[in-house]
Amino acid sequence: MTIAAHPLVARAQELADRLLAPQAALVDRSEVPASHLQAIRRSGLLGVSAPRAYGGAGAPDPVAREIQEILAGACCSTWFVQTQHHTPVRMLAKTELPVRERLLGPLATGGLLAGIAYAHVRAFPRVLVRATADQDGWRFDGTVPWYTGWGLNDVLLLAGVTDSDEIVFAFAEAREQPGLRASEPMRLAALTAARTVSLELTGLWLPEESVALHTPREKFALVDLPRSTNASPAVFGVAYAAVRVLEENGEAGTAQELRGLVDEVRRQAYELAEHPVAHERVEERLALKKRSYDLMRAATTAAVVAGGGRTMDVDHPAQRLFREGMFLLVQGQTSVVRRAHLDALAC
Ligand SMILES: Cc1cc2nc3c(=O)[nH]c(=O)nc-3n(C[C@H](O)[C@H](O)[C@H](O)COP(=O)(O)OP(=O)(O)OC[C@H]3O[C@@H](n4cnc5c(N)ncnc54)[C@H](O)[C@@H]3O)c2cc1C
Repeated sequence: MTIAAHPLVARAQELADRLLAPQAALVDRSEVPASHLQAIRRSGLLGVSAPRAYGGAGAPDPVAREIQEILAGACCSTWFVQTQHHTPVRMLAKTELPVRERLLGPLATGGLLAGIAYAHVRAFPRVLVRATADQDGWRFDGTVPWYTGWGLNDVLLLAGVTDSDEIVFAFAEAREQPGLRASEPMRLAALTAARTVSLELTGLWLPEESVALHTPREKFALVDLPRSTNASPAVFGVAYAAVRVLEENGEAGTAQELRGLVDEVRRQAYELAEHPVAHERVEERLALKKRSYDLMRAATTAAVVAGGGRTMDVDHPAQRLFREGMFLLVQGQTSVVRRAHLDALAC
């Protein structure tokens, strides 16, 4: 079966065309509605990478990437809320700890929607969230600077660093409780609709049964490396959406040129993403990531230029895609990615 013919890809496209893209301007000015996430929960898309034995589709990664592209190009805010879910699903699919039996089924079938609070552990040796063993469980203290989907998702996967430099990932209910307070949702230059907050942790206690992973930091860093160095499908999704805006503005020639360039970088990036050793060929991954950013920037800029002054209307898709593209430049950014991107921009 080709990727495009996979039933979940068809379902994502149908959702994008019928619901997400037509309402993207409205969502951008307000909030991702629970009804959008309800439609995604029902569609089976949340279980795309989950094992079949737990109700998921067990689809290969190229299918998962294609779906993320389609959703990001249709409504980046909705994409961003649901994309958090796939990290917990993949982690649960790999663990043999008891939490797998409790949560993998509901997460695979859309009964529960998950968010993540773990980017802060990439700042090691700076520790923003400390995890301390405490009475058959873990106590978490510190600040999670970014948590997306607050009020929209049901469970959160929280990471903290122990005093012996190990990382503990554990699930919590995504609501205020003793030891967990959320800020007001942030007003941002893009994706305000995704309800991003910061979380204050003052002794949030989670039982050992909620732990999904407990691993030395160096080992986690190796697994984590390709997540931040690979080009993101969302970047291609936004680039293609901008190319479509160009086409609608009668700029078929420019659109065709840009589409060809995006196709080629996407092909190379996805080929490398399939490389069997995920933490190898980091320089090449970073170079392709940078190239994908360049092309997304070119496509979203071209959409603004082609539409002229009317693209400054807050309802115009060109300015929204431009702002969403700006957000994607820093989403999941690590110090390695930031250095490589800045060095490439300055030469
Ligand atoms: C709108 C928005 C929503 C987000 N939602 C989520 C979410 O739901 N869940 C989530 O986990 N993350 C989320 N993030 C975080 C995101 O994935 C990136 O990790 C984040 O943009 C990088 O954080 P920063 O730029 O604030 O970090 P900065 O503090 O500016 O650091 C940039 C990079 O350098 C590293 N670094 C910083 N200081 C040090 C140091 N002293 N030593 C070594 N390395 C260091 C950081 O870890 C980071 O990788 C969100 C970000 C944004 C902008």
